[in-house]
Amino acid sequence: AKKAVLGPLVGAVDQGTSSTRFLVFNSKTAELLSHHQVEIKQEFPREGWVEQDPKEILQSVYECIEKTCEKLGQLNIDISNIKAIGVSNQRETTVVWDKLTGEPLYNAVVWLDLRTQSTVENLSKRIPGNNNFVKSKTGLPLSTYFSAVKLRWLLDNVRKVQKAVEENRALFGTIDSWLIWSLTGGVNGGVHCTDVTNASRTMLFNIHSLEWDKELCEFFGIPMEILPNVRSSSEIYGLMKISHSLKAGALEGVPISGCLGDQSAALVGQMCFQDGQAKNTYGTGCFLLCNTGHKCVFSEHGLLTTVAYKLGRDKPVYYALEGSVAIAGAVIRWLRDNLGIIKSSEEIEKLAKEVGTSYGCYFVPAFSGLYAPYWEPSARGIICGLTQFTNKCHIAFAALEAVCFQTREILDAMNRDCGIPLSHLQVDGGMTSNKILMQLQADILYIPVVKPSMPETTALGAAMAAGAAEGVGVWSLEPEDLSAVTMERFEPQINAEESEIRYSTWKKAVMKSMGWVT
Ligand code: ADP
Repeated sequence: AKKAVLGPLVGAVDQGTSSTRFLVFNSKTAELLSHHQVEIKQEFPREGWVEQDPKEILQSVYECIEKTCEKLGQLNIDISNIKAIGVSNQRETTVVWDKLTGEPLYNAVVWLDLRTQSTVENLSKRIPGNNNFVKSKTGLPLSTYFSAVKLRWLLDNVRKVQKAVEENRALFGTIDSWLIWSLTGGVNGGVHCTDVTNASRTMLFNIHSLEWDKELCEFFGIPMEILPNVRSSSEIYGLMKISHSLKAGALEGVPISGCLGDQSAALVGQMCFQDGQAKNTYGTGCFLLCNTGHKCVFSEHGLLTTVAYKLGRDKPVYYALEGSVAIAGAVIRWLRDNLGIIKSSEEIEKLAKEVGTSYGCYFVPAFSGLYAPYWEPSARGIICGLTQFTNKCHIAFAALEAVCFQTREILDAMNRDCGIPLSHLQVDGGMTSNKILMQLQADILYIPVVKPSMPETTALGAAMAAGAAEGVGVWSLEPEDLSAVTMERFEPQINAEESEIRYSTWKKAVMKSMGWVT
């Protein structure tokens, strides 16, 4: 068969909390040519603990690369056209491994994990009065969410980690670092690096100077020699070198040249390059990011300040305001795995459709406390407003509605901080294939919700960064490149008053979810 004629191709690893994907794009048209996805196990060894196996994560990356390459072969596309690879990843999730054996020294402590609650309480006692130096340097509130406290916990509680640090064999990284180190050779010369966006979520990184911060490392008691080198989001970090997976080894020598935390990658993939442009991603959690240009804007309403991207060593840094919601798609997975009222996530739509209303039932999925805008670790999940009439369909509907209400809360905060309300919301992520959710979201925000027809914007952003890197240069970041992207639009369909009544009842439910744990 004739080989298809194509421009240079770019691959992207998208390592999320729920799953890993590898995707290959045509750099000239941004068209997605092939991809493969593998779900990742989550372990809950104790209440509030969330772990993943770093080796399973790595294995899933190999598997996705292999399967995608096979599919490309079936399409008669020559994989030697893949000129660069980008990495995008779940952020904050913390791994410590041994640089001599390549073995992780503990499971990955996932961003949602709550084990560090007492670590956080103890640390916050040490911050003098109103001098919040952590927040002013990092843009982040002291919370279980970020890597520094997870790493502190590992140093305090895991003997293997302590020993490896003493013997100068320990490396720390978020998932991007773990993957890039492994994919560039691991024990045989793997590159230990991260990018500015991932670094900005560790709570050890000064977002103004773009360096690891000595004072913060001292405050958290983190030895600086275990930290990765911080690089821009678009430059050649190293070349693919996979020894123990033959088929994935077909990409041997391809530069890894893009790295962005998943939410930054989605911002880039949605082409939100201008000050004031925003996107909301519905995955395990829900993350609304608004580009604030070269300015670090500090929120008055519970949002985070974070590095949005820096697309090249000599390119300027961009910042974003972020509204983070811990539990979005995770509540659907919970209904599937813990209650068993659905067999697959997609089934939720059928249940919700059957009733078309929650019938006064409200579901606050504060499984990991509440993130933005409340930052309330004492909250736990509640389902309220139940009657004899309530059935599983109403609860399914309330779960979807919860995702929309939580987004409304962070959008309101964003509008207050920015002063100019968003006229529409650009969305993406695994949950956006759910049409009921999208319509509900438009109804509850009371602005149009706009979704690109190619939903893999996170991977696209990582591919763009990789393809645009100096020395690769196969992707141009000019916005007109994607002018052909088609959009699906959801307009509000209920009346504004009804939307407000539902939202204010939601807020009542949120108040009831607080103060469960002391
Ligand atoms: P992540 O990047 O966090 O791994 P994804 O963007 O891949 O997440 O989205 C996966 C999440 O979306 C899962 O939590 C899953 O339960 C949820 N999800 C997937 N499809 C649907 C659907 N049709 N309706 C509602 N939720 C869904």
